[in-house]
Amino acid sequence: MSLKYIKNVATLKLDVDKCIGCKLCSTVCPHNVIKIEDRKAKIVDKNRCIECGACMKNCPTGALWVRRGVG
Ligand code: SF4
Ligand code: SF4
Repeated sequence: MSLKYIKNVATLKLDVDKCIGCKLCSTVCPHNVIKIEDRKAKIVDKNRCIECGACMKNCPTGALWVRRGVG
């Protein structure tokens, strides 16, 4: 967790326990927000997220959540 408070930070959330490492989210993300490390998704730069919802839509296990169209 970052201690910095950033205004308008994206609502993107990842439940790592649900992630099966299928890589779909990192493939569909247009801004390279997510990468796969040790067969788990990892949010590398939340501030790049445009809340398009593509990752959430494509995740087969519901590990990703984002409030679409806010950012
Ligand atoms: S909502 Fe869109 S921009 Fe944000 S992480 Fe998911 S795919 Fe990437
Ligand atoms: S799409 Fe879902 S299950 Fe697949 S790597 Fe991303 S977070 Fe994990």
